Amino acid sequence: MKELLKKLIEAKSTPDLGEIQCANVLADFFSSVGIESNVEVWDNNRANITATIKSTGQNPALLFVSHLDVVPASKQGWHTDAFIATEQDGKIFGRGACDMKAGMATVAATMAEIKKSGVNLKSDIIFSATAGEETDSCGIVKFLKSFSVKNLCGALVPEPTGFELITAHRGLLWLEITTKGKTAHGSMPHLGINAIESMRAFLSEFEHYDLTAVKDKLLGTGSKSVNKIKGGSATNVIPDKCSAQIDIRTIAEHDHSEIQKDIEAIFAKVSQSKKDFSAAIEVLRDVKALKTNSDCKFVDDIKKITGITQTTAAPFTTDAPFIAELSIPVVIFGPGSGETCHKPNEYVEIADLQKAVEIYKKIILHFAK
Ligand SMILES: [Zn+2]
Repeated sequence: MKELLKKLIEAKSTPDLGEIQCANVLADFFSSVGIESNVEVWDNNRANITATIKSTGQNPALLFVSHLDVVPASKQGWHTDAFIATEQDGKIFGRGACDMKAGMATVAATMAEIKKSGVNLKSDIIFSATAGEETDSCGIVKFLKSFSVKNLCGALVPEPTGFELITAHRGLLWLEITTKGKTAHGSMPHLGINAIESMRAFLSEFEHYDLTAVKDKLLGTGSKSVNKIKGGSATNVIPDKCSAQIDIRTIAEHDHSEIQKDIEAIFAKVSQSKKDFSAAIEVLRDVKALKTNSDCKFVDDIKKITGITQTTAAPFTTDAPFIAELSIPVVIFGPGSGETCHKPNEYVEIADLQKAVEIYKKIILHFAK
């Protein structure tokens, strides 16, 4: 399994190269252990892979969903080459070692062990690894479009949680607001419409927009932050365009389309005092919050198997809310610590890999035997 993880790290799956190499490593692995898989390719290098251990089908199927892609790695700060898996001090270093090729490799290795053991299963075990989780979730959306299995007991996302059982995380809504104006000579501002002035008017109203009124026990409140702004071309030119990117984080009670309507209402309010105001919203990314019922049977069974008594919330966002749209319970549980993700010298402890396989094996056998 260590070898599989190393191959997956070296099958560089950054946004510029796509996921195809990584999907092919998994396809070869599954084929070597007699598990059927299917790689779906689009745009030359984007890919999803699905593999299934077939069963008698008496019990509902169990779904594992990982992501194939990783964030890029610059040379700075790394002690090793980020894309050469390096074993050192009981750890494997490399981009994606933790997020989330360890989780992906351990689920695949568990399935291989189960297949090899020849045990009779009553539930299909479905492995899916998808593209673009770190950018736009395009892979999971594509996977779900053609996924037709209706009878499922639940899904597990083996993201690095340090073996904590996660049932909730906030959602995100990334918006770009663009104000439009009319260009003119900088010495005659009255002849133009200054898009930066319009943005200023919008932002001072938006400052009062409150996402903290509703509170969730696990997730706290929503939040908003204006994190990027761009406008103007020269000191002496009235700008005709200004754009601002806003990072909104939500809890399950927030309806993302209502938030967009609220922002349109802010536009209308600004227009009342600023007649030449014109603005538009573009959604850059939209992932709902995850809120799995911690008391449902699926979660309860996993608690018993793992000995975990308390479920928790993740500080990060995943593709899990897309899977929850299948109306099944989804939990996030896997090897590796979230703290090393997206940073130089990302690693996973080798001992955690074996531990993950043992726990996934127990989970599969509990639901499928
Ligand atoms: Zn991840």
